[in-house]
Amino acid sequence: MIRHPELRQLTLAHVDCDAFYAAIEKRDHPELLHKPVIVGGGKRGVVATACYIARIHGVRSAMPMYKALKLCPDAVVVRPRMEVYKAVGHEVRALMLSLTPLVEPLSIDEAFLDLSGTETLHQRFPAASMAHLANLIKTELGITVSIGLSGNKSLAKMASDMDKPKGFHIIGMAEAASLLAPLPVNVIYGTGKAMSQKFNIAGIKTCGDLAKAPLELVMTIAGSNAVRIKQLAAGIDQRQVVPDRPAKSISSETTFDTDLADLDALTAILESLSDKVASRLKSNNLAGRRVVLKLKSHQHQLLTRSQTLPDPTQLARKIFDIGVKMLKDEVAPHLFWRLIGIGVEQLVPSDQADPVNLAEPDLARVIALEDTVDRLRQRHGKTAIVSGRQFSRHSHKDSGDNDPDSKEDD
Ligand SMILES: [Mg+2]
Repeated sequence: MIRHPELRQLTLAHVDCDAFYAAIEKRDHPELLHKPVIVGGGKRGVVATACYIARIHGVRSAMPMYKALKLCPDAVVVRPRMEVYKAVGHEVRALMLSLTPLVEPLSIDEAFLDLSGTETLHQRFPAASMAHLANLIKTELGITVSIGLSGNKSLAKMASDMDKPKGFHIIGMAEAASLLAPLPVNVIYGTGKAMSQKFNIAGIKTCGDLAKAPLELVMTIAGSNAVRIKQLAAGIDQRQVVPDRPAKSISSETTFDTDLADLDALTAILESLSDKVASRLKSNNLAGRRVVLKLKSHQHQLLTRSQTLPDPTQLARKIFDIGVKMLKDEVAPHLFWRLIGIGVEQLVPSDQADPVNLAEPDLARVIALEDTVDRLRQRHGKTAIVSGRQFSRHSHKDSGDNDPDSKEDD
């Protein structure tokens, strides 16, 4: 039972699955239901998701595993099954899309929904549709969600966090400003730790302070975001719900169990990542014009190098060749890396990919070869054919793609 004076007017919802990865593990392994479950691990193990029982002991996302296990020694640690989580994420999204086409995913397990204009279609007002969705997700998929309902994105996201798990929280527009006023400025989207500290030093401690502060002062701290941040602090947010955008880039990356400096080892990993990028390009009928190499040093410094091609490509061979060229310029004997990634940007439809040209007489052969390899992999699995370079590194473990929606929080 929910009462709210604006119940029938509010149309903007934020849906966030509760302890998503852990909830799926409990669903698929009922013996874990009443146990503290932590999803995560590996040598670099951090907590990806902790179930609510583990959270009672103080376990949190992104916490190092050794620390989590000190707090909760009885926890069952489960290695992530990203493919399963992604599939469930897509099922959740499909149920959302049965309510409205205006669904904007923020990550694998959360999204904004704009339900304005759906009342006639569903014969119920948005709040009732959202309650229906929560039930549907529970009965069809066996996991729970928390819902925030309000008049704009920023408030809806805040609301979904206020009543977790299995929550349904409403923030009305009339109460928004007074509800925000006493809260610290760091609840505002876009104010990181550093910015919040600067605001505090300037005497701006709460959202109320921020909403009233002179724009000139806020600009010295937040720059061009000043107007927007002041509005958010007052409960005003003009952003629209933008349905799933087509990808701007396709990339794949890996974090190593142990930092690497060796060019051969890095090259072998780069080759398998290039294969993945190419196969995603091909399955989405896309090609890219710019190849981007990403490296992260053992001290977490991020480095990117890119090169634009004369023609868009979807060939693993080309992506890899350019990636290796850029990689060779960065690798040095005593320089250790913790992550490597490769991707392509400036995507175009695949009919523009790899046109035959006289400068590359070998191209037709490369295309034919990749075609054959792709078909064999489709029939016999991804590891049916690997290059000698990759074969010798076959023990290498992969920590997954950088799909923008493979992160999950709570
Ligand atoms: Mg969540």
